[in-house]
Amino acid sequence: MTTQRPEVMITRPFYPASMEWLEREYTTYRLFEAPDRDAMLREVGSRIQAIAGGGAVDAALFGALPALRLVAYVGVGYEQVDVASAVQRGIVVTNTPGVLNDAVADLALSLLLAAERRIVTADAFVRAGEWPAGGFPFTRHLGDLTLGIVGLGRIGLEVAHRAEAFGMTIAYHNRNPRSGVAYAYHSDLLGLAQASDILLCVVPGGSETRHLVTEDVLRALGPTGTFVNIARGSVVDEAALVRCLQEGALGAAALDVFDREPAVPQELFALDNVVLTPHIGSATHSTRKAMGDLAVQNVLALLGGRPLLSPVAECAALTPR
Ligand code: NAP
Repeated sequence: MTTQRPEVMITRPFYPASMEWLEREYTTYRLFEAPDRDAMLREVGSRIQAIAGGGAVDAALFGALPALRLVAYVGVGYEQVDVASAVQRGIVVTNTPGVLNDAVADLALSLLLAAERRIVTADAFVRAGEWPAGGFPFTRHLGDLTLGIVGLGRIGLEVAHRAEAFGMTIAYHNRNPRSGVAYAYHSDLLGLAQASDILLCVVPGGSETRHLVTEDVLRALGPTGTFVNIARGSVVDEAALVRCLQEGALGAAALDVFDREPAVPQELFALDNVVLTPHIGSATHSTRKAMGDLAVQNVLALLGGRPLLSPVAECAALTPR
């Protein structure tokens, strides 16, 4: 069926109220619910001007959507979008930066606190009725510790502000030093790991940062060190991480992200020096709504002939076709 309204495809569900807003404005197709994805693409693909949602957005999908002008990605990390192919075809990609900084930074501190103060193990200790037999072991005081942040960007800076409020010393590693901050800069990640009690990763994913955190970095953090990952699972050599934790070469880890989500290395389940969460960094109601709304606003801007709100860096100079 053809309609007069612009047609938009939703690749993956996002916050219900935001998705419903998009569905009120345009004729939309939920690709993620299609019993036969290829049939839906064949039937309506030639009329789709924008896609919204998450997941993998690759050159094959672009091939099936010849009129596509915009990928309104719901998420700040867009390594699953083939941006080079998009740019080649004149398709603009937008993401949802900024609106999730606070929620993700809050989770970072939650994980850091849980790992350092051994909250999950302490909870199990109480539930198992072990308290009457003796107190829980002492842990480290946050104010005595140095936090090394790998990726002092939008979220990293919010993590630093929160950690400063706990009295922590902050150091960081980026490819380039960040202006306007007094934190110690390490051009070398290994050097940052050696200088840190806790190493917290919040860089983008993708091929450029794959296994940026090597076994050597984890070993430099050492038997009393804690590794926190809220970036992407790909950023750390996960097999080496498991090995270091099992051997005691690394003290503890708190992980929100994994290399093959939702699969998590089973070996981690047996370790009580590990805290695990299922990629919930931005998963609060208001944050997910703000992310969904920003994606919808980008679609509205494109189809209303207005400037896009948040094109990714690679598309900043691209005029939508
Ligand atoms: P951002 O503002 O772009 O910051 C990224 C930081 O990483 C920058 O400081 C950048 O500095 C540094 N960086 C980039 N590539 C690097 C490399 N190869 N080596 C060392 N440092 C590098 O991004 P953001 O908004 O803070 O988001 C960061 C990432 O967090 C996202 O891309 C996403 O993967 C992750 N995230 C996770 C969740 C979750 O639910 N767990 C939620 C949101 C975001 P230089 O350019 O100077 O290197």
